[in-house]
Amino acid sequence: MRCSIVTDLASGDTIIIDGGAEADRIISWVDDFSGSGPDWSNGPRDQQGLESLGISERNIVALVNTHAHFDHSGEIPILLTRYPVSWYLHADDFHLQTLVQASGRRWGFELPEPAIADKLLTDEMELTLGSLKFKILHTPGHTLGGCCILLEVEDGPDHLFAGDTLFAGSVGRTDLPNSGGDFELLFNSVVTKLWPLDADTVVYPGHGPTTTIGVERETNPFVGTNSAAFGRFQ
Ligand SMILES: [Zn+2]
Ligand SMILES: [Zn+2]
Repeated sequence: MRCSIVTDLASGDTIIIDGGAEADRIISWVDDFSGSGPDWSNGPRDQQGLESLGISERNIVALVNTHAHFDHSGEIPILLTRYPVSWYLHADDFHLQTLVQASGRRWGFELPEPAIADKLLTDEMELTLGSLKFKILHTPGHTLGGCCILLEVEDGPDHLFAGDTLFAGSVGRTDLPNSGGDFELLFNSVVTKLWPLDADTVVYPGHGPTTTIGVERETNPFVGTNSAAFGRFQ
């Protein structure tokens, strides 16, 4: 499962996307620059690197979730204890969030009492968190409340935190219990919300390697413009 940590290097303002597992590892990386952080980090891994930019620490301003499956959200309460900030989730995943302990137990994980999101994600909202700005795309299909989080960058490719909506060469499962998964819904979410994005947009899926919108639009066997589904549903 991918947790993404986004820092504005000008201010230190930082959000954690899908901080649902290995909360202790996330906290030690954010606070103490110790342990291993995200595999695709392009920011300073050590405090000296951050200080050379004129900031001394990462300042967590919010937690945001693409969806409420337990591996993406189960340990949010631990992060909220350390960082008493707002937690954003789409309302259509609130019910799923209440079930994380039971879902985790099926896979052998003991999780704390589920967190309750105090802020709502809604489709097309512009989300300003400290000095960071995002656009939210509601992309149901893997879960009812699934969202992709778009970071628009002026002098480089945009970045899309896609949760389990879109993977490199695949898509999220639509058969998981209590999730409201539906392949046609997922297909329509991807085609209408993601394919219009710039081809060079870097995609950070909830699992597996990164990819780009352009590559997936051309080659994804489930939802790409050359896929069988594209001919069937379009
Ligand atoms: Zn999921
Ligand atoms: Zn997942």
